[in-house]
Amino acid sequence: MIVTVKPGADPDGVRRGLVARGLWVTPLMGDKGAVHFLVRPYSGAVTREEIARLDGVADVAEPRTPHPLVDAQPHAVRIGGVTVGGGAAPVIMAGPCSVESEDQILTIARRLRPLGVTFLRGGAFKPRTSPYDFQGCGAVALRWLASAAHATGLLAVSEALGESSVADVAEHADVIQVGSRNMHNSALLRAVGAAGRPTLLKRGMAATLEEWLLAGEYLLAHGAPAVIFCERGIRSFDPATRNLLDLSAVAILSHVHHQPVIVDPSHALGRRDLILPMSRAALAAGAAGLLLETHTAPEQAMSDGPQTLTPEELEALLRGLPAPGAALGAR
Ligand code: PEP
Ligand code: MN
Repeated sequence: MIVTVKPGADPDGVRRGLVARGLWVTPLMGDKGAVHFLVRPYSGAVTREEIARLDGVADVAEPRTPHPLVDAQPHAVRIGGVTVGGGAAPVIMAGPCSVESEDQILTIARRLRPLGVTFLRGGAFKPRTSPYDFQGCGAVALRWLASAAHATGLLAVSEALGESSVADVAEHADVIQVGSRNMHNSALLRAVGAAGRPTLLKRGMAATLEEWLLAGEYLLAHGAPAVIFCERGIRSFDPATRNLLDLSAVAILSHVHHQPVIVDPSHALGRRDLILPMSRAALAAGAAGLLLETHTAPEQAMSDGPQTLTPEELEALLRGLPAPGAALGAR
């Protein structure tokens, strides 16, 4: 049940009253100044009427869905002056898979800014399948990313790989990325939410849409001001592409759930030759933007080179996309 605190009442006093009735209490944040608690009985039954009679309680309601905060999130979210979703012009997040040096990320950022890219992405902590592969430069790379983003007027996006990296990423990035392998990591979702930054939530590679939405609910319930969902392909049987880009998921998140959802064709395809057609398809399906790995020398990239575009290729790709709103109709 969702308990709404009376305006002016002490939320902490209400919380104590609820706990004293044997209720499991979770604060719900991010709802226009009103204070709500999600409550569930530990054991035994506490009726709705009993809760409604407690001091300071304005209202008790059954949530209409398992993810009320996600459902209440607007279709368009604002991040650092950029609107993502709700029919706004598609946003482009671009940059290398890994931030490799101060010079590398600044050089790439300078190439991206004139192309209309608004978010500079780059990993400092990399979730690699093999322990012998490059694991990222670590916290120092966050500083390189932040200063390149700052110097070029871009917003920085980087992944928090574990709870111990959340504070560093939150300090340096405008958007915290939760990677595919971590979408089910509820401890990390709680920590990232509590950092209070907009979050880019990649879909787990075998996650259902409901699990993905509930991961978004974790982030919002713990304090994230906005969640952008990112479809990055799911596991399939055919190695022709690295993953299977699930465009139905994009259509459902955008058109049924009215969520800001972007598409990452780089990780979905794993090969650069198909990124343009699938980017077009993603926008047609309702994507609010694209995440495109970009590097000035993809063949030398420390990770994900085969799916990475050069700035020239990115420029050609962006020119090949329909003008905002054109051909796609109102989304
Ligand atoms: C990435 O964005 O570089 C990344 C590791 O993505 P994913 O979590 O989708 O594999
Ligand atoms: Mn990558």
